[in-house]
Order: sequence, then C-alpha cells, then structure tokens
Amino acid sequence: MSTLLEVSGVSVSFDGFKAINNLSFQIADAELRAVIGPNGAGKTTFMDIATGKTRPDEGRVLFGEKSLSLLRMSEAKIAQAGVGRKFQRPTVFEDQSVFDNLLLALKKNRSPFSVLFYKKSEQDAEKVRALAAQIGLSEQLERHSGELSHGQKQWLEIGMLLAQEPRLLLVDEPAAGMTLAEREQTTDILVEAAKTRAVVVVEHDMEFVRRLNCKVTVLHEGSVLAEGSLDHVTSNQDVIDVYLGR
Ligand code: ADP
Repeated sequence: MSTLLEVSGVSVSFDGFKAINNLSFQIADAELRAVIGPNGAGKTTFMDIATGKTRPDEGRVLFGEKSLSLLRMSEAKIAQAGVGRKFQRPTVFEDQSVFDNLLLALKKNRSPFSVLFYKKSEQDAEKVRALAAQIGLSEQLERHSGELSHGQKQWLEIGMLLAQEPRLLLVDEPAAGMTLAEREQTTDILVEAAKTRAVVVVEHDMEFVRRLNCKVTVLHEGSVLAEGSLDHVTSNQDVIDVYLGR
C-alpha cells in the first residue's frame, strides 16, 4: 500500500515548550490507524498540523502521490486536497433534516437555504441515500438532525465528511459519550470508510481501539513511543511505564 501521509522530523514549540518533538510516522492509503497516548502527548497538535491549523517550526508533512507539502498550503487548500477532520462535538444543522444535512455537505455548501435548489436532482438524492446507508441512518433521512441521539449525530457528521470524499479522514474521539451499541456501529462505519480512504482515529477508549483491530501509534511527549498492533504496543515496557505514570 502506498504512503498517503508522511510526517518527518516535525517539531512544534509553544512558548519554548516542545509539544511535538521530532515526530515521524506514515499513514498508508486506505489504512485505518488509531493514535493513542496520554493527555498532553501531542495527538491534537498532530491533527492541527495535518490540517494546517498549526504550523511546525521544522520538519516535513507530505501528502499524496505528488508529495504535496501540506506545510505550504492554507487550511482551505489542505481540505480541498482531501484532508477531512471530525472534531469531538458534532456540528450539524440541527433544524435541518438528515437528508438536507447530507445534501449540503455533498454540495460543499454551508447555507441551508440552498437546499431548495439542490433537491431537484435525483442523482444527488441517490448519493445522499447511499451515504445514509453507509452511516446507518437510512431510516432517519426525514428526521430533524436535532432529534437524533448523540451517536446518530456523530454518524451524520461522519457522513457529511465522507460526502466530501476525503482521502484522509482524521477523527477525534468518535466513541466519547456513546452507548455500547453505538460504539459497535461506529466501529463498523469507520472500518468500512477506511476501505476506500485512510482514517486516523484519535481515541482514549482502549476497548474501542481493540475493536478497530488496526495498527496503533502511541504518542508520548510529542513523538512516537511505539507502533504496531494493540497487543504489541500494550506489552511494550515504555508504553506501560508511561500509562502507569512511572
Ligand atoms: P493531546 O491531544 O495528546 O492531549 P495536545 O496536542 O493537546 O495533546 O498537547 C500537547 C502539549 O502541548 C500539551 O502539553 C499542551 O498543554 C501543549 N499545547 C497544545 N496546544 C498549545 C497551545 N496553543 N499553547 C500552549 N501549549 C499548547
């Protein structure tokens, strides 16, 4: 599998404190990867760098077969190049239907009013139905998004991001606040999504990471402490020491 994202020798300091310290790792095309690490390990800062929100002091971040340097691109250009990010809190239009939210995402339009015009295309409606099936919301298409459960809102937002066809989707703690059944469905959605694009999941919940059944990168003090299967990294003495605070 070819490399999609290559982070090499990246460092970022905030007021002299190195939040990211010579970080290097790679994500392959259509790979599902979990990024874990204790609080303050640099997980959020890594996502900020990959999306252009934070600019590193040194290092390289290359994306795609043309090795685009993300460090030279604006946040908007990075998003256009195919990097999507899901924050912890869902940001859906609560007073719009699930259908309309997906349709607006498909048309890359943030004005709910435009939906009146887009609704005329059967081709778009078909795409919306396919997206809804992907996120398990086929039965909820006509419901107002505000009426959805917390888990369903998270899936809707994942669907809205998928509508934009990212090549790399960064997802921040998708399982937080979910019921067990919702977590299971979230796993299925992410595993399925990662068949056609890379998905990087930042997560604290080890049971959820276990269910993802993918390669895990452990960050600590802004660099990679260990990488491999969950069983491999959780039997690494350095990782055990960091988690036990030794
Ligand atoms: P994580 O997401 O793994 O908890 P973060 O990436 O949020 O870690 O933070 C890494 C370190 O950088 C932490 O010590 C945090 O306090 C610090 N940090 C992050 N962002 C800033 C900022 N804007 N200003 C100062 N320090 C920051």
